[in-house]
Amino acid sequence: MSTCPKCGAKVAADAHTCPECGTKVIFRHVPHPRISKRKEHPPFKARDLLPHEGAIQRFNAFLAVRITGAVGTMWCAYLFGVLALISLPEAIRGGTAPLIAWIAQTFLQLVLLSIIIVGQKVDGAASDKRALETYDDAEAVLHEAMQIQAHLAAQDKVLTELIDEMRARRSS
Ligand SMILES: [Zn+2]
Repeated sequence: MSTCPKCGAKVAADAHTCPECGTKVIFRHVPHPRISKRKEHPPFKARDLLPHEGAIQRFNAFLAVRITGAVGTMWCAYLFGVLALISLPEAIRGGTAPLIAWIAQTFLQLVLLSIIIVGQKVDGAASDKRALETYDDAEAVLHEAMQIQAHLAAQDKVLTELIDEMRARRSS
């Protein structure tokens, strides 16, 4: 839906002249459907994509997020490290094979679990922030485009007035 540059009346999408004053409409603005749709939901974050349907699914998601939050800290990594070290003397006494098994299966698995979650949390927060900034950038670009639309509409109004004035002078 556009507006008439002369009287400001609403002009239908397929009309070529204003229904009120008969002025020729040189441009009809067709907004992209995304513009009205984007107002319904802010940018998605990782948390929004968790299952929300049933009570059980909600509880499972809640529990998983809580456990990930608790395990995914450097303090938990230190705790797991200390826990793994308890069995180190026994592994050393056992010889090469038990020692390698201790390093690979006990120490690395326990400690790396927490460290990887910490790294992923940092990555996730960074991409959430990037997504939000991109959304804000798009909003700024959209605002600028709307300003251009308003500017052009103002120019259409002046041009229409000028053309009318020139026609009036020529006919008089
Ligand atoms: Zn009009």
